[in-house]
Amino acid sequence: MALDPEVQRAVAARVRYFRDLGIFDFYRRGEPLAAAEPEPPVEVPLSVTAAVAEVAPALFENFPSFETPSMARAVPPVPVIPPSASLAPAERAGALQLIRDEIGDCTRCPLSATRNKIVFGDGDPNARLLFVGEGPGADEDAQGLPFVGRGGQLLNNMINAMGLKREEVYIANIVKCRPPQNRVPEPIEANTCTPFLLQQIGVVRPEVIVALGSTAATYLLGGAKRPLSALRGRIHEALSTKLIITYHPAFLLRDPSQKKEAWKDLQMAMKELGLKGKRAES
Ligand code: SF4
Repeated sequence: MALDPEVQRAVAARVRYFRDLGIFDFYRRGEPLAAAEPEPPVEVPLSVTAAVAEVAPALFENFPSFETPSMARAVPPVPVIPPSASLAPAERAGALQLIRDEIGDCTRCPLSATRNKIVFGDGDPNARLLFVGEGPGADEDAQGLPFVGRGGQLLNNMINAMGLKREEVYIANIVKCRPPQNRVPEPIEANTCTPFLLQQIGVVRPEVIVALGSTAATYLLGGAKRPLSALRGRIHEALSTKLIITYHPAFLLRDPSQKKEAWKDLQMAMKELGLKGKRAES
């Protein structure tokens, strides 16, 4: 028996709803009635994984899963793209756009209720260096760009001191919408949003990721919360990439005495990338 078109639409809407919750697989309970006609297939929208995979079929093959064990499972495991499956440089901007399209006017977590603009990420899709912060602040929320306030100016200075321009790196955050009063994102918010960041990292495939602050470090390391002092000063392996952890620029604005410690962290990144730093003015 064919389903009434209105019922079909309702079923499709329900499937989309579950999909937004991160539920992708459906199983029918019990045996179908012998006399029942097969139900028409429900059309499920193309997921970002499938869409990006169209751009580069090898990209999402045989990847292990990345999970954040301490947090609610609001989303399915996220792929970590192996080093061998990188996109061609010319395809990366398009793949990032597909991820942005997938996010849409996102209401997947409570932060959507108070944000002005989604802050997707910014920079060179082929960057060798990728910075990850915690979440947008007031300036970022107003402009839709990451790190454009006072902390952003300090980050720009840090990038320049490394011998790079801001346009040569990629910058993103753990959550793409501003938490009210700039509070730390709740686990359910970060856990819902981080998969998009991981997809972005999988497309850009930087040689080095610098986590700015403990929230970025926590989620990039899989959810294990540890003090920054226990994580700084060495190179971690995360998402098949070298991960260096340093202070968030907002913290450095509050405590400038820690800038020299942050500079030591950035020098580790420079060494990995073979950067000599900003040339002295002659
Ligand atoms: S923070 Fe991320 S998951 Fe939450 S509403 Fe914004 S884009 Fe969606």
